[in-house]
Amino acid sequence: MTLDTIMEEIKKANSIILLAHESPDGDAIGSLLGMKLALQKLGKNPDVIIREFPKIFSFLPESDEVKEDTDVEKYDLAISLDCADLKRLVGSEYFEKAKKTIVIDHHSSNNMYGDINFVNPVAPACCEILAGVFSYFNIDIDVEIGTCILTGIITDTGGFKYQGVTAETFEFTAELLRKGVNVSEIYQKVLETRTKANFELLKRILKRMEILEEGKIAFTYITNQDEKEVNAEAGDHEGLVEIGREVEGVEISIFLRQKDNESKYKVSMRSTNSINVSDICYIFGGGGHPKAAGCLISGNIEQVKEKIIKEVKKELDKIKVDL
Ligand code: AMP
Ligand code: MN
Ligand code: MN
Repeated sequence: MTLDTIMEEIKKANSIILLAHESPDGDAIGSLLGMKLALQKLGKNPDVIIREFPKIFSFLPESDEVKEDTDVEKYDLAISLDCADLKRLVGSEYFEKAKKTIVIDHHSSNNMYGDINFVNPVAPACCEILAGVFSYFNIDIDVEIGTCILTGIITDTGGFKYQGVTAETFEFTAELLRKGVNVSEIYQKVLETRTKANFELLKRILKRMEILEEGKIAFTYITNQDEKEVNAEAGDHEGLVEIGREVEGVEISIFLRQKDNESKYKVSMRSTNSINVSDICYIFGGGGHPKAAGCLISGNIEQVKEKIIKEVKKELDKIKVDL
């Protein structure tokens, strides 16, 4: 079975590097740090690459041990966590140079780019997959590992509220609570705290938000200039896309964020009901999950808006026909 092969490769490897997707969220960071701690229990000493570390996650164990770069030639094994494709993997050069590669993920758009792939698209978070993996490996999930894992689960489920949440999610959380993991503190730190910059960005996106297509689309954006003006740091844009879908009647929330290369925008989409935003993002070379997905599109704001809304409208028309 895949997990036995993964264990064999871990045992064989003298040097291991752990990698995750760009603009890392709580699931990416929780997976990396939880995996680092778990591998340490197996006598390994893996390196973790994170280049943009959102400061709200700096309470996590091992967060001051992460590296921006090490020796690219050094690794027997590279493990990619919470990342659907090699293009989005930070440190993909380490992955490409490693002697063996493993992908553990929960994105339905994962294109199986590892030598060994352990992908479960129905898992609500990569961290929840890791909890199962660690149990299979008989690694004790202690308070530190539990804190990392729960951070991923809480952030990727929006605080246990998205549909992907399973009975196991709650059972596992209850188990962690019994072990002493401070569930309410994690929740408060990762979901109930806005940095000042994020709050300033929130004011701007609310002011600009347009409700289009008979109330079914919420659209807003931020530019490089905005981020500069509010002194935004890594992760300060996280969560802004969620606001649009709170509006009654909205089926899809669209949020654009200008990239460093100014003629490109990162598109984030969230869906409330039946529209699969991962399929829409896939058209533009991106992907994600049915209700949360992203892609990169070239152009200025107006051009990118037009391109994405054209595709969204096609999907909205389909549900009109279904009714
Ligand atoms: P975001 O809007 O960046 O929060 O991303 C929403 C979900 O889609 C996350 O699970 C991301 O990992 C995934 N995602 C975002 N951008 C891309 C992309 N360009 N390609 C594949 N998956 C993506
Ligand atoms: Mn993620
Ligand atoms: Mn995830």
